[in-house]
Amino acid sequence: MNYLEKIFGLNGKVAVVTGGGRGIGQVIACGLAQAGAEIAILSRSGADNTLEMIDERGGSGYYIKTDVTEEDEVERAMEKIIDRSGSMDIVFNNAGICMHQDTLDATAEEFRKVIDVNLTGEFIVAQAAIRIMLANGIQGSIINMASMSGSIANVPQWQVSYNASKAGVIHMTRSLAAEFAETGIRINSLSPGYIATPMSADTPKELRDAWMPLIPMHRMGKPEELIPAVLYLVSDQAGYTSGSDIVIDGGYTCI
Ligand code: NDP
Repeated sequence: MNYLEKIFGLNGKVAVVTGGGRGIGQVIACGLAQAGAEIAILSRSGADNTLEMIDERGGSGYYIKTDVTEEDEVERAMEKIIDRSGSMDIVFNNAGICMHQDTLDATAEEFRKVIDVNLTGEFIVAQAAIRIMLANGIQGSIINMASMSGSIANVPQWQVSYNASKAGVIHMTRSLAAEFAETGIRINSLSPGYIATPMSADTPKELRDAWMPLIPMHRMGKPEELIPAVLYLVSDQAGYTSGSDIVIDGGYTCI
């Protein structure tokens, strides 16, 4: 075993990735699998492509259809994972949605929908995972997907519900990290800037063009550029890191 495998290798670990059927979740699922973890993907509409990609990379994984806003479904999925894999060491709590809307055009129902998936959904997944980890004596690692939008207001598109949900994720993460610090379960958040995925590709081109001058690196990030931070956070090397928010944004929040 070489030095990097020794400090970042995940052989024998089990990782849950919500929203792993596409986008950032797909790439992180592959990265965790390549580091040796068995992957359980939770989302609503399948993950055949991701499972194929994991297989091509010599890893192993499976899919459990789950809506993260439904407590019963999440609980059942977590029980299935423990039954099938015998552990749950890592949770990449990533499923999310975005709505671009001028605030005066938005309804409370639309606002609630975004909060329901991005904030309440991540709470439901984190709570269920912590229960399982405590019951099985696992000192696991949870990464909640936040965003730079949890700290800044994006322009020119307005997205108050998304920004509020991600600010909530960052502080929920700190609150959970403090509450469970003594158990050895570590909980951190990840705050990417603009990353090229199906979610960002859904954004009209004129908006994406408007972002470029605002990003000091003048480009969007690649999902692959998030893998090393995830491998660090879930490794034993991050044993003293909990409640942190890691920002990976091409310098966006520096200016
Ligand atoms: P995508 O739209 O490409 O992927 C979102 C994933 O979430 C899909 O797999 C989707 O699967 C899943 N999902 C959505 N709703 C639910 C639900 N209710 N239950 C279970 N799964 C659900 O988005 P990205 O990959 O771009 O984003 C992933 C995360 O990263 C999100 O939390 C996003 O906010 C965050 N992020 C993204 C950035 C970007 O620029 N792309 C920047 C910063 C943060 P399905 O529809 O099959 O359920």
